[in-house]
Amino acid sequence: MVHCPDCQMMIGDSLTKCPGCYKVFTMSDLGIMEKERKENEKQLDEERRASFEKYMKKRRLFVILLLAELVVLNVTIWPAIAMTKSTTAGMVTLVINIVVIIAIFVWGIKTGAALCYHCGALLFRNFGKYCAYCGKDMRSYR
Ligand SMILES: [Zn+2]
Ligand SMILES: [Zn+2]
Repeated sequence: MVHCPDCQMMIGDSLTKCPGCYKVFTMSDLGIMEKERKENEKQLDEERRASFEKYMKKRRLFVILLLAELVVLNVTIWPAIAMTKSTTAGMVTLVINIVVIIAIFVWGIKTGAALCYHCGALLFRNFGKYCAYCGKDMRSYR
């Protein structure tokens, strides 16, 4: 949407005549409108980039939390089993770890950190460059 250079009404990007004041646009009018369209596009792109950066910060935190939790799981479960010579402590440790993993995922889903930025699919094991669901670049907002 751009402004009509004459009446300032918001109109479609590719019109040759204003639906408000019926002005037929001159080359100079079209130039002004094209400039405004490009300016709008640039601003939208800036907004998208800023929101993507926020998403990436959360996503990095999500991956770090998940990896940290997996390390904790690995170092706690085996000693817990070995020390008690029974699996009770091991089971309790496992349950606590599962609850923590679920909590991380719930946070990730709520904030979008566990979801693809482009298609919103849950990225369960997908930490690569491209989304396994939509194929888009995970490190780009476009
Ligand atoms: Zn007009
Ligand atoms: Zn996707």
